[in-house]
Amino acid sequence: MSRGRFAPSPTGRLHVGNLRTAMAAWLFARSAGSEFLLRFEDLDHATARREHEDDQRRDLEVLGLHWDGVPVRQSERLERYEDALADLTRKGLTYRCWCSRREIREAASAPHVPSGQYPGTCRHLTAGQIAGREASGKPPALRLRAEAPDVEIVDRLHGSHREVVDDLVLRRGDGTPAYNLVVVVDDDAQAVEEVVRADDLLSSTPRHAHLCDLLGLPRPSWVHVPLVLAPDGERLAKRHGSVTLLDRELLGDTPGRVVAVLAASLGLDVPEAEVMPHELLDRFSDDRLSLAPWTLSPVDLQTRWRRP
Ligand code: GLU
Repeated sequence: MSRGRFAPSPTGRLHVGNLRTAMAAWLFARSAGSEFLLRFEDLDHATARREHEDDQRRDLEVLGLHWDGVPVRQSERLERYEDALADLTRKGLTYRCWCSRREIREAASAPHVPSGQYPGTCRHLTAGQIAGREASGKPPALRLRAEAPDVEIVDRLHGSHREVVDDLVLRRGDGTPAYNLVVVVDDDAQAVEEVVRADDLLSSTPRHAHLCDLLGLPRPSWVHVPLVLAPDGERLAKRHGSVTLLDRELLGDTPGRVVAVLAASLGLDVPEAEVMPHELLDRFSDDRLSLAPWTLSPVDLQTRWRRP
């Protein structure tokens, strides 16, 4: 049985951008007869909260986006991530990095460093330099010794996408394993074959593909769905107005109405005023999906939804 998943960070209520991505992931999985899993990406201690998980589960259930099995939490799977880190370290593919953000920013502004990439300060430290940094007592991050490969992935909507993979952080100085590592480990451990998520993560996906290759894991297939934007062209956020399911309900939108509007925004044919996701399964096909973001109007953010 193949599998898809939705992997929210429990940092607040889901907004319509998150809900639309969840619906797309659900439709891709269910229309292919696949299982659909829920995973809470709760490793950020500063922002992740159990009560947000409960709100997110409730909203998905109310919208008819049911999942299989028991949702997993990344905070309960730390051993797996350490095993993957140990594997990469055994293969000589990691090194410790003591750089602060400011040091990285300053070194990265040097003309020979490609923009956005780690400048490699800690990649080739001498034994003396390492001893000096160890003596500082500052806990190091762990980075991937990537050697800047140019990695191509193929996305079902976007087609081929390439990026040069830099020496990304695998574990932060505070001991937290980094998203780019854990997402790869979890999708493999949960046997996820198709990853559907928002397209702000498309540019990170070559990193995930490269980590799969280095860890000897099969690459899943990827579908990156367009974001929902606010009227100001920014990625939608809570500050933009009535964006959570609760907000929409307070304005008078029923769950079925929210599903209908989100589904129409994905390009599905939705003549009904209200609909539930299971009724959309035989209308769903990926060649209907638009690659353009869905931009909400100021009216969408303040009043009941009519047609998208
Ligand atoms: N946890 C990420 C988010 O909420 C999603 C990561 C993923 O789907 O790979 O944006």
